Amino acid sequence: MTARRTIEKAPPPARHAAATIAEIGHWIDGQLRLGDAGRSGPVFNPASGVQTGDVAFASIEVVDAAVRAAKEAFVTWGDMGLGRRTTILFRFRELVAKHADDLARHITREHGKVFSDAKGEVQRGLEVVEFACGIPQLIKGEFSQNVSTNVDSYSIRQPLGVVAGITPFNFPVMVPMWMYPIAIAAGNTFVLKPSEKDPSGSMLIAELWQQAGLPDGVFNVVNGDKVAVDRILSHPDIAAVSFVGSTPIAKYIYETGTRHGKRVQALGGAKNHMVVLPDADMELAADSAVNAAFGSAGERCMAISVLVGVGSATDKLIPLIRDRAKAIHVGDGLEGNNDMGPLVTKPHMERVRGLVEEGVRDGAKLVVDGRALKVTDRERGFFLGPCVFDNVRPEMSVYKEEIFGPVLSVVRVESYDEAVALVNSNPYANGVAIFTNDGGAARTFESEIQVGMVGINVPIPVPMAYYSFGGWKNSLFGDVHVHGQEGVRFYTRAKVVTARWPEPHLRGKNLGFPTVT
Ligand code: NAD
Repeated sequence: MTARRTIEKAPPPARHAAATIAEIGHWIDGQLRLGDAGRSGPVFNPASGVQTGDVAFASIEVVDAAVRAAKEAFVTWGDMGLGRRTTILFRFRELVAKHADDLARHITREHGKVFSDAKGEVQRGLEVVEFACGIPQLIKGEFSQNVSTNVDSYSIRQPLGVVAGITPFNFPVMVPMWMYPIAIAAGNTFVLKPSEKDPSGSMLIAELWQQAGLPDGVFNVVNGDKVAVDRILSHPDIAAVSFVGSTPIAKYIYETGTRHGKRVQALGGAKNHMVVLPDADMELAADSAVNAAFGSAGERCMAISVLVGVGSATDKLIPLIRDRAKAIHVGDGLEGNNDMGPLVTKPHMERVRGLVEEGVRDGAKLVVDGRALKVTDRERGFFLGPCVFDNVRPEMSVYKEEIFGPVLSVVRVESYDEAVALVNSNPYANGVAIFTNDGGAARTFESEIQVGMVGINVPIPVPMAYYSFGGWKNSLFGDVHVHGQEGVRFYTRAKVVTARWPEPHLRGKNLGFPTVT
C-alpha cells in the first residue's frame, strides 16, 4: 500500500508539468483512506507552478474515525512495556534516516526549499526521534522511602490518551516531529493534521511507522482544513493539542482548545531581530544576516527579518549584505546548486511582493530589489528574489508585519539601549540574536531581552532536541515549549502514590489530616 495514489487528471498546463496529479488521502488505523467528503485542495510544485497533488479535506466523520482508532489503540499502546516501545522507536529512527532523501524530495517538491535545506530539516526532526528513544530515562519518577513510618511515596508520569498535532507548511516534516515521537514514546496515540499545502511527507512518515512495527491506530494522519481542525478542538476524546502556525490561528487554537478542556500548546508567528553592535565581526554578521534572512526564502519561524544596526555598524554592513544578497542563486530546489527556492504558493508570493511595494511607498530604501527576478524555464514558479530594505522605521508595515518571505529590513538605532527597547516592544518574541565581541554586553543582553530563544553570534538559535523550543508573548500561547523535557511533561501527567503495606495496621478512628508519624 502506498500512501499516495497517482491518478490521471487534467492535461499538463505547462512545459514542465507533471502528467499526473497524486490523490492524497488520510492514514487511519494503519490504512490509506481516500477522501470521501467531496472536498479537497490543490498541492503545487512551487518551482514549476504546476499542480501535483489533490489532497482530501477530512469531514467530521473522518476525524472521528481517526480519533476512534487512536482511542482503541491507546488501550494496549499506553500499557506496552517501555522496552517494546523503544524498540519500535529505534526501528523508526533507522527508517527515517534511510528515507531521508525521499522525505526531503517531498519537502522540496511541495514546499520549494532547496534539497540540501530540506535534508537539514529532516535531520533536525530526526534528532527529536533520537531524544524520544531515551524515554525510559526521561519518564522516570521519584521515590522516597519512609515518608512516614513504613510509608513510601513515589511519583509517576502517565500518558494522556489521544493527542493531536496541527502543523504549518514551512517545516512539513520537522515540526510534526517535534511532537509525535515524544507523544508516542510516552504512551499516547496521535492524530496529525498537517498543512494542506505540503502533506505528502506526513503520509510517508505514516508508512515508515507501520514498517517499524507501530501498532495500527497509534499514529494517524487526517488531512484537511478548518473543518478538521475545529473537530479536533472540540472532540471529547482528544486530551491535548499541539499547534504550530501563525499567531491569529495559534490564539484561536489555544482559546478554543482550552475552552473544551484540553491541554494546549500553540506556537505562533515571529519577527526575529538581529542586533549588530559596532564592535562585531562585520563579515560574520553579514554572512549570518544573509543566510538567516534568505534561507528557505525567509519562510522560517526563526528567520532573521529585521537587522538592527547600532551606530556605525549599519554603514559598514549595508554594502556587505547587498553584495551577498545579490550573489544568491534562486531556482528550482531540486536542480543545480541553487541557494534559494520559490515561495510556497502564488497568493503568498503576491502578498510578500505587495508588502515590498508598500515598503517602497512608505519611504524605506530598497537597496536590493528581487522583484524583477526571472528564473529560466520556471516562468510560472512562485519566485521572488532577495529584497533588502535600509532605513526601515518601526511604524512601517514591512517592520510590523510578519512577511515570511525573502525580505530583510534594516532598522538604524543610535545605541544598545535603543536596540533592546525596540526588540522588547515588539509583540512577537520567538528568536533574537546579538552580534558583538563584548562578552559583557552579550551577557546583559541575554538577561534583559524579552524573547524565548537567544543567539549570541548565532543567527538562528534553534535549540537541540534535548532543550525545549518556544517563544514568548504572541509567539506562544500556553505554558510549555515543545520537545526536550517540557515536551515530555506536556504529553504526560503526574501521579503521586503514597503506599503502606499491611503489617501493623493502625486501628481506630482518626479523622485528622495525615501528618508524619
Ligand atoms: P497557518 O496558521 O496558516 O496554518 C497552520 C495550521 O493551521 C495548518 O495546519 C492550517 O491548515 C491550519 N489553519 C489555517 N487556518 C485555519 C483556521 N482559520 N482555522 C483552523 N485551522 C487553520 O500557518 P502557515 O501559513 O501554515 O505557517 C506559517 C506560520 O507558522 C508563520 O506565521 C510562522 O511564523 C509560523 N511558524 C511558527 C513556528 C514556531 O515555532 N513558533 C514554527 C513554524 C512556523
